[in-house]
Amino acid sequence: MFKNSTIDSLLIDLINIKSVSGEEDKIFKAIKSFFIKLNFIIEIEEQNNIVFNANLNKNKTILLAGHLDTVLAQDEDQYKAKIINENNDTYIYGRGACDMKAGLSVMLKLALDIYNKEVDLNYNIKFLFYSDEERALPNGLNFLIDKNLKKESLAIILEPTDNKVAIACLGTLTFKVNIKGEAAHSSIPWTGSNAIYNCIQFIQKIKNINYVEKNYDGIKAVSSLSVTQANTTNSHNVIPDNITLTLNYRFLPDFSKEEAIKYIEYKVSKDYELIDISPACICNINLPKSFNKYKKFIYQGWCDMAQLNEYGIPTIAFGPGNESLAHKVNESISLSSLNSFYKNLLEILKD
Ligand SMILES: [Zn+2]
Repeated sequence: MFKNSTIDSLLIDLINIKSVSGEEDKIFKAIKSFFIKLNFIIEIEEQNNIVFNANLNKNKTILLAGHLDTVLAQDEDQYKAKIINENNDTYIYGRGACDMKAGLSVMLKLALDIYNKEVDLNYNIKFLFYSDEERALPNGLNFLIDKNLKKESLAIILEPTDNKVAIACLGTLTFKVNIKGEAAHSSIPWTGSNAIYNCIQFIQKIKNINYVEKNYDGIKAVSSLSVTQANTTNSHNVIPDNITLTLNYRFLPDFSKEEAIKYIEYKVSKDYELIDISPACICNINLPKSFNKYKKFIYQGWCDMAQLNEYGIPTIAFGPGNESLAHKVNESISLSSLNSFYKNLLEILKD
């Protein structure tokens, strides 16, 4: 399945295996047989989720993690890698080129270099591959956590972070609130009470809640609360007797899920329906010294690093590629940035 051992060839082969969420069988089998041929030990395997151990006989282990799936492509052509030379560099285009088959190609390259004894690392390395990251939770990581994934002292998710290190992410809480009215025929609206009008005050109250900005060692994070959906189920000639508003709260990295719920109950209402909640996280440990030269940032969005941190594995995100190209028609990565990321990662793993 993998024709050549260079990092660009590995990436091209990975892009050419279509792996939209829910359809990871093929890429999973290819990666599994790749690692088995290199004599890596399978530590956990559950559906299309797996952890391989390099067993390097070192005191500390770093867990490298990546998701196998991609979002759907806008056009079928994107499932086939394209190589374009421009600006004195080579660019590899295709679905997943940066999110996150570039990260996967780095993991495969490292496994090969370990097998061929071309690298001398200061850590044992485990490789975690999981499915279904691009859809709602739970995803493949939850299957591995449920199987007692071993708690290593550091995990790195190789999501595209453009040479920066994500040390935290915000949490997210989605909930629904119903505002009541009284139904009436719309030709005689004064005989009822319009639930849409009745929610204006509520929406204004939410709009007036300020964004909360907080600095973590000079890195900014902003929490916010937004109304994201408004639904009624009546027909067009009926005054609605109910409107359901969906709200999404993005809470700060050092807020627990319980604190986020308390905040909503205090600021908004005690009368709500919880739809889902995903934890925030901040990775407070001392990273290996070689991380000092990289800029740190906090994901305003949500990332699986929160699940691993909550489970008890200090986790950061650090991977090749530019996140702003993820999921786009022109998703791509330059070969020079992919190679230099690999070099940087080796430097960290030798630290
Ligand atoms: Zn991703």
